[in-house]
Amino acid sequence: MALSWRHHTLIQALLCRGPLIEDQFRSIFAGVSGERLSSNRRLFNDYLLKINKELAFAQFELRACRNQYDGNVYYGMVNNVADEQSKLGTQYTVPQITFYKGIIEAIIQDATAQGSISNIDALNVRLESQAGPSQVPTAVKTFSFSQKEKTLEELVRDQWLCSTVDGNIGLGPRSFLDLRSWFHNNDIPTCEVCSEALVKAESCPNESCNVRIHKYCLSMKFSQRKVEKVCSSCKTPWPCEVNTLEAVKAEEDDHLNEPSQNNVPPLTRKRRMSSRATDPDQVGSSSSPISGGNEVVRRVTRKTSRLK
Ligand SMILES: [Zn+2]
Ligand SMILES: [Zn+2]
Repeated sequence: MALSWRHHTLIQALLCRGPLIEDQFRSIFAGVSGERLSSNRRLFNDYLLKINKELAFAQFELRACRNQYDGNVYYGMVNNVADEQSKLGTQYTVPQITFYKGIIEAIIQDATAQGSISNIDALNVRLESQAGPSQVPTAVKTFSFSQKEKTLEELVRDQWLCSTVDGNIGLGPRSFLDLRSWFHNNDIPTCEVCSEALVKAESCPNESCNVRIHKYCLSMKFSQRKVEKVCSSCKTPWPCEVNTLEAVKAEEDDHLNEPSQNNVPPLTRKRRMSSRATDPDQVGSSSSPISGGNEVVRRVTRKTSRLK
C-alpha cells in the first residue's frame, strides 16, 4: 500500500516548512485532496493514518499538538529516533543540544507553570550538570556566552524555542510536538481538562491549591453552561473570561481534531468534555492522529527520558 503523490505532498510540506499551524496545514490538505477539511474530516484522518503507517518504519510520525502559549494547533513531523542529535539535526552541536536540554528543563521545573524563563536565565543555564557527573566534554565546558546567545537565536528561529509575548524564552511548537511522550513519562503535571502536560498554565486563585489548567482549556470548560466556575478541587471561585464565540470555535476545533485512534470514525461521536478528561488516550486535538504506532511511541519515550 504505497503512498500517493497527495500523501507525499503533505509530508514534504511538513518536512520543509513545518511545524505548520492548523489553518495552513488544512489549506494544503484541501489543495491536494480537493476536499475542504470541514466537510471531510474522515478523509483527513484516513490520510494521516496512512501516512503514519508508512512512516513508522522510518521512525517518523505526523503529529498534532497545541502551542500552549496561544492555544493554536500545530501539525509537524516528529523524528522518533531517540537521541537528540538526530532530532535536532546535524546543524546543532553537542554543547548546543546540551544547552537546549538545560533550557527546556529550567522551563518545565517551574512549579507555577509560567512556561518561560527570562533571556538572562536561559543564558545562565549551567551545562555541566546537564552533561552528567561522569565526564563533561571539553566543547561543553568551553561553550561561551556568545555561543549561547547565537544558539538561542537559532533555536527560536527553528521553532525549538519561542520568544514569548512578554519577551521571555518558552518552548517552540517543535518542542511541544517532540516532547509530548517525554512529558507523560516524566511525571510532568497534567491538565485536568485535556490530560496534556502543563507547560504554560493558569493557577487556581487559591494559593495553597496546586490545580493548574491550560488557559484555553479553562475557557472551554467554563464556557459550558452547566459547569460551575470554581476550582474542581478546592471549590474556590475561578474568574475566567469566556468569550462565547471563542468557546464555540474551540469546541468545533476540538471536535474536528479528534484523534482517529482505534479507527473509530471521528464524526460518529460527539465527545463531551467530561468523558474526554477521564480518558488520557483520547485527548482532544493533541493526541497523535494515529493508530498502530503505539509500539514506536513507547520505545521512544523510554529513551528520550534521558533529557532529564
Ligand atoms: Zn488542558
Ligand atoms: Zn483550587
